[in-house]
Amino acid sequence: MSNLFVELKTPVTGAYKQPTGLFINNEFVEGVDKKTFEVINPATEEVICSVSEATEKDVDLAVAAARKAFKGEWRKVSPAQRGRLLNKLADIAEQNTDVLAAVESLDNGKSITLAKGDVAGVVGCLRYYAGWADKVEGKTIDIEPDMFHYTRHEPIGVCGQIIPWNFPLLMLAWKIGPALATGNTVILKTAEQTPLSGLVFAQYVKEAGFPPGVLNIISGFGKVAGAAISSHMDIDKVAFTGSTVVGRQIMKAAAASNLKKVTLELGGKSPNIVFNDADIEQTISWVNFGIYYNHGQCCCAGSRIYVQEGIYDKFVAAFKARAEANKVGDPFHPETFQGPQVSQLQYDRIMGYIETGKKEGATVATGGARHGDKGYFIQPTIFTDVTNKMTIMQEEIFGPVCAIAKFKDEEEVIELGNDSTYGLAAAVHTKDLNTAIRVSNALHAGTVWVNCYNLLNTALPFGGFKASGIGRELGEAALANYTQNKSVAIRLGGAMFG
Ligand code: NAD
Repeated sequence: MSNLFVELKTPVTGAYKQPTGLFINNEFVEGVDKKTFEVINPATEEVICSVSEATEKDVDLAVAAARKAFKGEWRKVSPAQRGRLLNKLADIAEQNTDVLAAVESLDNGKSITLAKGDVAGVVGCLRYYAGWADKVEGKTIDIEPDMFHYTRHEPIGVCGQIIPWNFPLLMLAWKIGPALATGNTVILKTAEQTPLSGLVFAQYVKEAGFPPGVLNIISGFGKVAGAAISSHMDIDKVAFTGSTVVGRQIMKAAAASNLKKVTLELGGKSPNIVFNDADIEQTISWVNFGIYYNHGQCCCAGSRIYVQEGIYDKFVAAFKARAEANKVGDPFHPETFQGPQVSQLQYDRIMGYIETGKKEGATVATGGARHGDKGYFIQPTIFTDVTNKMTIMQEEIFGPVCAIAKFKDEEEVIELGNDSTYGLAAAVHTKDLNTAIRVSNALHAGTVWVNCYNLLNTALPFGGFKASGIGRELGEAALANYTQNKSVAIRLGGAMFG
């Protein structure tokens, strides 16, 4: 085994071969400066292994490979063949579900059950975009008798993609699916907290038959490799998922370099609204899933819960009991629902928000402390007695922490729900169809769930209003992020200007 692979073990796979290099031009390579960084298991706080760290020089090499592929071999691959390659990649990922899911659990801390769900989402996403590859169509536009006008949707070129650590594989699939289906080439940087599953996946890119340079996957830090991508003069587009703070930096870097196209999928502080007539048992399950799924590390987490006054007391008591029953612990235990937060930094940030909530006068109804004595585990936490002005009602906590507020009527809850700089998602729980539709229409959010939460589908666009982002991922809408319109006007003869 070369020094760019290490043998690791998980309870699901036993020993497996973990790539540790940078995946550039269909090969694993060391970084030019031979730098590496350690990857930590968030459940044990122990080092799993070290991986190569990409610097600006490696980004340059990856960009050169992607540019060469874009101008050369990839250009000659037909749209239908691009679809076949994506389908092949999906098949290989599906055959390797166990290893991909296990590596995700090991590195990110999410439960193995959720990780398998993520891999199924990856496979579905790649197949969905494989289907689009040969269905990207322009128009003929009939406007003048002696002219022929048509439009083409051409690939943008070399795309930089920067993804977060909360869904390492799923975010990778959401990014590469539409980009490759539409004929672009890609340099994708995984998050420094979770590089391992992307490197396992990289092996399948070559196996599926993608030409060298079409999809490059590198590990590295935001301030180095991420910044090099967003400011690169030969990257035509950057797509980012992560914090709003970094989203702003990426836009600035894009503006200051070559004005590359930018799409952003940022944070949220999503309202989850429960009316008096909601089915309380069902609603509690959805509200629980809405905030505690993936340990609260979801951009669309339903972290502000508004409950109508008629059922408020009953709801709080029942929801508290439900949250306390969530199984927190070893990601590899089949019954675990909530694993550790991804890193010490995230753990500290979340505990900081819990302290701020207490200081600002909110009541901890349950949780509020560390779970266990090893690993970055936090108890499922509920605050009550909150006002919309409090920090915990305005800022994204990105952990297993929510706050419940009481409301009187529809008008008030629409005001409260929209009182946020974010606008990613929202939910309404009611048996009244009119209320459901009226409130959904009035909420400023890219996605509104009714009587459910966190049900995403590859075919349904996802993205934010307000400071939650620019552009839409998933669905047909995502194709627009990776194509540019060309209008062709052909003169069919006759004298100039008639
Ligand atoms: P982050 O935004 O710093 O990191 C996300 C990605 O951006 C990583 O790949 C990182 O390396 C990269 N990055 C960081 N700085 C960069 C820069 N200057 N230029 C280019 N790329 C850069 O997120 P974080 O610090 O890991 O988490 C902080 C907060 O962000 C979380 O608490 C949460 O609120 C939010 N977050 C949101 C999402 C989401 O899905 N919207 C995901 C992760 C984190």
